[in-house]
Amino acid sequence: MEDAACNLKNNLRALQKRIELACERVGRDKDSVRLMLVSKTVDIARIKQAVSLGFHLFGENKVQELSSKSHQLQDSQVEFHFIGHLQKNKIKKCLDSAQVIQSVDHFTLALEMQRQLELADSIKQIYIQVNTSQEISKFGVAPDCTVELIRQISKLDRLQIRGLMTLALFSQDESRVRPCFKILKLLQTQVMDMGIPNVDLQELSMGMSGDYEVAIEEGATIVRLGTAVFGERLRPDSYYWPEKS
Ligand SMILES: *Cc1c(COP(=O)(O)O)cnc(C)c1O
Repeated sequence: MEDAACNLKNNLRALQKRIELACERVGRDKDSVRLMLVSKTVDIARIKQAVSLGFHLFGENKVQELSSKSHQLQDSQVEFHFIGHLQKNKIKKCLDSAQVIQSVDHFTLALEMQRQLELADSIKQIYIQVNTSQEISKFGVAPDCTVELIRQISKLDRLQIRGLMTLALFSQDESRVRPCFKILKLLQTQVMDMGIPNVDLQELSMGMSGDYEVAIEEGATIVRLGTAVFGERLRPDSYYWPEKS
């Protein structure tokens, strides 16, 4: 096997082991956590290597890149989730390419999605992105406004709310990161208890390369790993997470 493929295999194996250990620590079944490979900037050949190793869940956060990759991989059994900031003029393309859109964070976006889905006579699973770190530069609905947003979106019959997503505070300090995950878990429990029709928050998408083990301890069902799987990206993250304009 060539070097790159070998690294990928080793990385994935090591990550699976650590995911398993994190599950064990808190008495969770290892199958209750799915590993999403965040493949932004990663080329098709590398993605195909991951697929051949048995991985099928990928995350992208640019619509153009998502669309092109999902098109090229349409014959394989892969699932793409959109995890980036969604602009209005790219909604249709995103709906066509992603199985799940994890980054819905305001009502006007949801309304436009509903409209497009009616036209296409289709439905879509979505997660609500919550800003648990309260950093102004990040997207996501504020925790305090999340229940209200979910109530509103739940009335849109083409959208099925199936989870919550967050990016925790970027910090080495675990004691500041962990509360972000706790907030998401708490919101999940609160909303589930309300029994809102058309809402079933099974999924908690939280945890990235630097903090996935903490996220698993706090209840993540999907961890989104890029760097830890594929290595450092060539472009800085600011390219993918532009400041809010
Ligand atoms: C890039 C990205 C990730 C993965 O980040 P890594 O630190 O490379 O694992 C996860 N979630 C979102 C929303 C991203 O944009």
